[in-house]
Amino acid sequence: MDKRIGIVGAGTAGLHLGLHLLQHGIRPTIYTDRRPEEYAGMRLLNTVAHHSVTIQRENVLGVDFWPVADHGYFGHHYFIGAKPDPLRFYGSLRNPSRAVDYRIYQPRLMEEFEKRGGRLEYKELRGEDVAGLADRNDLLVVCTGKGPLGQLFQHQPAHSPFSRPQRALCVGLFKGISQHSSRAVTMYFSPGAGEMIEIPTTSFGGMVNALVIENIPGGDLEILAKTKYEDNPKAFLALLLEKLRQHYPTCAERINEREFDLANGPLDILQGGVTPTVRNGHIVLDGGKIAVALGDVQAVVDPVLGQGANMASYAAFILGEEIVKQHVYDERFVEHVNMRRQDRVLGASRWTNFMLTNLQTMPPELLTFIDKLSRHRSLSDEFTDNFNYPEKQWDCFASVERMKAWCDVRLRSEDSRASVERVAA
Ligand SMILES: Cc1cc2nc3c(=O)[nH]c(=O)nc-3n(C[C@H](O)[C@H](O)[C@H](O)COP(=O)(O)OP(=O)(O)OC[C@H]3O[C@@H](n4cnc5c(N)ncnc54)[C@H](O)[C@@H]3O)c2cc1C
Repeated sequence: MDKRIGIVGAGTAGLHLGLHLLQHGIRPTIYTDRRPEEYAGMRLLNTVAHHSVTIQRENVLGVDFWPVADHGYFGHHYFIGAKPDPLRFYGSLRNPSRAVDYRIYQPRLMEEFEKRGGRLEYKELRGEDVAGLADRNDLLVVCTGKGPLGQLFQHQPAHSPFSRPQRALCVGLFKGISQHSSRAVTMYFSPGAGEMIEIPTTSFGGMVNALVIENIPGGDLEILAKTKYEDNPKAFLALLLEKLRQHYPTCAERINEREFDLANGPLDILQGGVTPTVRNGHIVLDGGKIAVALGDVQAVVDPVLGQGANMASYAAFILGEEIVKQHVYDERFVEHVNMRRQDRVLGASRWTNFMLTNLQTMPPELLTFIDKLSRHRSLSDEFTDNFNYPEKQWDCFASVERMKAWCDVRLRSEDSRASVERVAA
């Protein structure tokens, strides 16, 4: 018997799930509100970096259309504006990450989904449409991102500590910033003011730099989230340059002021905020069918650590595997799904929320941790690669004792390896 799977939303969650199911002989229907041809004319959606674990899944799906040799980046520079002396260090990724403008990425994957036999139906869906879709399918998956449909799923207060955005975001794609000699993300921290993540990103005209400027409400940088580029582009750019010089000087020094501007025009900027929220993984609809929450609908995080789409893709694969393996889509089915995806989804949410809170105040244990990373390359490499595995980051950050032990255990085993080598020599 054919399995009838309905997926609402054609973001990374819906597309990775849909493509996975097609590969396993199930032909799902994706219901979504935007056609592929609409994306190119849209405002910047986000600035998403896929880590290598996600690129591996794209490889499996046969949709790794942007080879990392040309489009990837290879590590993270860290700049912490500590007083009196800023800290600067680097960590390598074992395998490269990659950022492609979603206005290019998502329509390309939609076309591929359709080419392989997937069905796409276009309509903006509302809560009252869900029952009708459930009748047409054995299982409904809701992955409509941050929009109102996600509110079908109950919010989990235990994992949702904030009732408002913790950062006022100003996010744009910029030209006129030179790349590092080896392509890398830079994570900048300005204690008390915010953070900035600079990401080499493939957009319509080629490689540009995304600046994800995360501003603490009430702090010196909040004005960047409130000043409109469209009102006066020159004044906006002058303000931005002034703030970059003050808070993120190692970015400002790579800017060619004559070229510095939004990369593709006035739609390349996004301002607003994200309230981190975790929701129940499913609901039972009238009539007994199940609707599963996936991606941002299940858990939305602030973009400061680049986790949302990566965990959406991870969870999409788990859900896909369980849909293929199981034949009854009931509460036991979702129990399997939820148990398998939970550690990563909660790990990403908790680690991100921890950083949002602690980067503001920089408690001594976090400063000590960062100081150790800055002095031991092996630690900063492992910390950097663990952006792939947020549950491992949470293993490290869940308590002060864990943060200390994470460094100490590794440094001790490095010391004992070094002494064994000395004896052997
Ligand atoms: C500035 C910024 C930077 C980010 N950087 C990163 C990063 O570096 N790494 C990372 O992993 N994540 C990042 N994220 C998070 C990432 O963008 C999201 O987690 C991810 O896109 C979620 O995917 P999704 O498929 O759940 O939802 P979405 O990508 O939002 O997709 C939702 C889909 O549903 C459709 N839809 C919406 N409403 C309806 C409706 N009513 N009816 C029908 N269809 C509907 C939409 O058209 C779309 O196709 C960032 C987010 C932001 C805002």
